[in-house]
Amino acid sequence: MPVIFEPFKIKVVEPLALLTRQERELHLRAAGGNLFGVPAEAVTFDFLTDSGQAAMSTEQWSAVMRADESYAGSRSFKRFEASVRELCGYRNIIPTHQGRAAERILFSLTVSKGKLIPSNCHFDTTRANIEYGGGEALDLVIDEARDPQHPHPFKGNIDLQKLERVVRERRADIPLGMVTITNNTAGGQPVSLENLRGISRILRAAGIPFLLDACRFAENCWFIREREPGQAQRTPHEIAREVFSLADGCTVSGKKDALVNMGGFLALDDDELALRARNLLILTEGFPTYGGCSARDLEAMAVGLHESLDPHYLEYRARSTAYLAQGLNRAGIRTVQPPGGHAVYIDAHALLPHIPAEQFPGQALAIELYLHGGIRSCEIGSVMFGKLTPDGSFAPARNELVRLAIPRRVYTQSHIDRVIELAGEVAARASSLRGLRMSYRPEFLPHFTGRFESVG
Ligand SMILES: *Cc1c(COP(=O)(O)O)cnc(C)c1O
Repeated sequence: MPVIFEPFKIKVVEPLALLTRQERELHLRAAGGNLFGVPAEAVTFDFLTDSGQAAMSTEQWSAVMRADESYAGSRSFKRFEASVRELCGYRNIIPTHQGRAAERILFSLTVSKGKLIPSNCHFDTTRANIEYGGGEALDLVIDEARDPQHPHPFKGNIDLQKLERVVRERRADIPLGMVTITNNTAGGQPVSLENLRGISRILRAAGIPFLLDACRFAENCWFIREREPGQAQRTPHEIAREVFSLADGCTVSGKKDALVNMGGFLALDDDELALRARNLLILTEGFPTYGGCSARDLEAMAVGLHESLDPHYLEYRARSTAYLAQGLNRAGIRTVQPPGGHAVYIDAHALLPHIPAEQFPGQALAIELYLHGGIRSCEIGSVMFGKLTPDGSFAPARNELVRLAIPRRVYTQSHIDRVIELAGEVAARASSLRGLRMSYRPEFLPHFTGRFESVG
């Protein structure tokens, strides 16, 4: 394989924060052991999330300057709407300030107590919005996804037999079906075109609307092109057009594959639902031609949505993510296989078998990566998905993962090389890491504000 190189050059630079371990210890203590509470100026390599972290291009910054900030009917909205519609073809394009605002509007109109929303895996904000409305967020991902080492090329796929059964048994309770591309929760894994066609067929036959959680549609399309028989000759854009055509709408966080720092949208074919969504949008987001965004955000999204489908960019993106995973594996750290699109997921259970799930091995590892190397990652395990059962016992998550999410177009290969080196040093003394207990656990989304202390 030839050396991977970034298919862009750098025009603006931002210095990295270089601290000592002692300085980081003070910051982490003040944050209650929660990396979301650590100030950015105390983080060297910020892999907490890829969300909203993209470096924008010269074309995007030019579009920002062109923005028309008129309250109603701005030219920027027209350009945004045209860009989204060219890609996904849906009739109604409703801008929101980010993905969860689109989710909240969608689910407040469709979910009530007893309703069920099937998906491959719901993302955390999606699940929280469904459950907040009294509904049930049902994950129907294929069994292979549950095994972090299984090499299945499309571990984001839905188990179509399970979907068929749920649709048959619970049709009246299902206001819509979803699928997350790529499947963030289960390792940033893609969904195949064949599977998307199957989901579409099952839901359409039952008259159930099909919505994509399409935050990482471009990365998913790249994996389809790379891994699915018969797709290698198509452009990512052609694949994306087909993917969107299989569904009836989508929720999108522009902070992922639209390569912007803020923005999102809800797109719907259904005019009647869209009318109600716009009315709700006005209550909490803003007038339908800006919907919680500045016009400059809409302009940047309009450009970014198409830039992210550039095959050179996508090839670099997928290969550099795989490069990080391979480097960690060489350092003795197991990662979810195959590597995802936007992130590498470390199997913390495999690295720290001496820390039981109720002592949060993922969080323990995330903390040590920070203290040792200034690397900020995100636990995706029992902090995020563990549940207190009614009898007071703790039901752990299925996997204990630590996610290194890679901001788009931000870090270079030598940054990644240094991260591999630092993580290898942590792995070499993994057996000395200790477990944690949660001194504060909020009811919703505990990973954002929960607090931790070391056990024994
Ligand atoms: C980020 C994300 C969301 C929510 O979007 P926000 O912009 O953070 O509100 C929803 N679904 C998936 C799959 C995501 O990755």
